[in-house]
Amino acid sequence: MKCTAIVLAAGQGKRMNSRVQKQFLLLQGKPLLYYSLACFQNSSVIDDMIVVTGKESIDFCKKEIVELYGFTKVKAVIPGGKERYDSVYAGLCACEGTDYVFIHDGARPFVTEDMLQRLKSAVTEYGACTAGMPSKDTVKIADEKGLVAKTPKRSHVWMIQTPQVFSFALILEAHNRARQGSMEEITDDAMVIETCTDRKIKLVEGSYENIKITTPGDLLIAERILTEKYR
Ligand code: C5P
Repeated sequence: MKCTAIVLAAGQGKRMNSRVQKQFLLLQGKPLLYYSLACFQNSSVIDDMIVVTGKESIDFCKKEIVELYGFTKVKAVIPGGKERYDSVYAGLCACEGTDYVFIHDGARPFVTEDMLQRLKSAVTEYGACTAGMPSKDTVKIADEKGLVAKTPKRSHVWMIQTPQVFSFALILEAHNRARQGSMEEITDDAMVIETCTDRKIKLVEGSYENIKITTPGDLLIAERILTEKYR
């Protein structure tokens, strides 16, 4: 069973307020994107990787990350699209002979081998699964006026992360269908499956450390996590 990781690094990272794109910002001397690629490179679950980045960053990514750190599982570094789902679609189209795809935000450096093992066993059973964690906070659904419309039962609320893992044929077919309509509201790949198929998606424990680096404050938290990990 061939497993391909599609690693997304084509976002603008506007909320980071930095000249350098966030996926290339340094975290303890290495670009943010290095950390997830290193996890996939060393994983017994992942066979190959596709890196999706901005057109202008392809050379940098190949030379300063893939070649420099010896990420031999990277089969292609390709340009992404305007929205995240466009970048995912570009990644899907670059896969060859893949059975399962692990779609991952390059902005989440703390994916682990344990997580990949849990996701692999869930995807072989369910065909679709995503990393996430039970919400520690109570979540409210707001209406258009900013008033509370509903409070879902906390034990049923999960905060969703990546990797999101799917049978390749299922996710490609779902994206193809979704692309025929409006994708404006789509924020992750699980949602593509939810809206375009009747497949149930299994929730799998990621970790509370598996954060997405979005703002400068997140970068400080990431530095802290790294220091603790390798102390
Ligand atoms: O913008 P956001 O933080 O939600 O992006 C999540 C991930 O998707 C990031 O790793 C980002 O680089 C990637 N992305 C992408 N192409 C886009 C938008 C986001 O690859 N057009």
